[in-house]
Amino acid sequence: MSSLVIQTSFLGDTVLSTPLIAALAAREPVDVVVTPLGASLLRDNPAVRALMVYDKRGRDAGIAGLRRLARELRGKYSAVYLAQGSLRSAVLARAARIPRRVGFDTSAGRALYTERIRYRRDAHHAERLWRLAAGDDAPSPPPEVIRPHLYPSAADRAAVDALLTELPAGGPLVGLAPGSIWGTKRWPHVAALTTLLDEVRFVVIGSGEDAALAETVAAAAPGRVLDATGRLTLLASAELIRRCAVLVANDSAPTHLASGVDTPTITLFGPTVPAFGFGPLAPRSEAIGVDGLECRPCHPHGPRECPLGHFACMQTLEPSRVAARVRNLLSHHPASQ
Ligand code: SF4
Repeated sequence: MSSLVIQTSFLGDTVLSTPLIAALAAREPVDVVVTPLGASLLRDNPAVRALMVYDKRGRDAGIAGLRRLARELRGKYSAVYLAQGSLRSAVLARAARIPRRVGFDTSAGRALYTERIRYRRDAHHAERLWRLAAGDDAPSPPPEVIRPHLYPSAADRAAVDALLTELPAGGPLVGLAPGSIWGTKRWPHVAALTTLLDEVRFVVIGSGEDAALAETVAAAAPGRVLDATGRLTLLASAELIRRCAVLVANDSAPTHLASGVDTPTITLFGPTVPAFGFGPLAPRSEAIGVDGLECRPCHPHGPRECPLGHFACMQTLEPSRVAARVRNLLSHHPASQ
């Protein structure tokens, strides 16, 4: 028999599920239920036998979509690992009649699980997910065990090769990921950072929705910024991040893409904190935030706008402080020595 992982939440969570999937694949074949975007991230992952796409907000919305998928899954698996803890995922696992259903003891769907693993608030989320396979009693894993892995293809590499021809040679390449769907996670000083690092070339990474942000950054450092927003697939974006000496990102998906390709990352935390379990995992990465603010953290994800109006968690995170940390990481990069 084989195992199933259900992971239909945010892209970052999908990336952070790859250590769990790898741990399960060491025992038996693993299939994964994912969203269409999640499927594009896990494509070519050698630990995954098959991807089952669950378009829960589109084609498979509603009870008919859930029933269709449950029928498809029925009789194929001895265990399911609920990396996404919603009631809908639990109902899917139960309707698929999978006998062993493993999830977190805090999840909305926990009443339908057969085994509940402690949700460790003090652990990184990649470790929490990995423990669904390893169990509550497993010793603390070494960093490499819970480090995610992504697998860009030859086509992704070729797309990045072509894109990088648009940027003049010379100077280390630093990635900037200034976007986030949560407004208060966006650091407002990205353009100012580029003016403090005039020896550096930059590439702005993000979706098409980040194009206006990228334009502002490009205007601050003419000739040194390549706007890649909206131009690459997710795995090609990971490949582009892999080519960067350093990534500067907010507390959002690009941080986890960088963890999946081992690019040292400076993650800027505003309304959230690394203790939530979503800090960068690539070697030499750092999490930076403003200490001593009583209002921080104020939200599990980051509100659309600062409820206090001053937005001090990001406004007072000085670009000079971030520039110093970038320079420090660049000094350890082989191309800079
Ligand atoms: S309340 Fe505090 S932590 Fe929340 S957005 Fe405003 S400044 Fe940031």
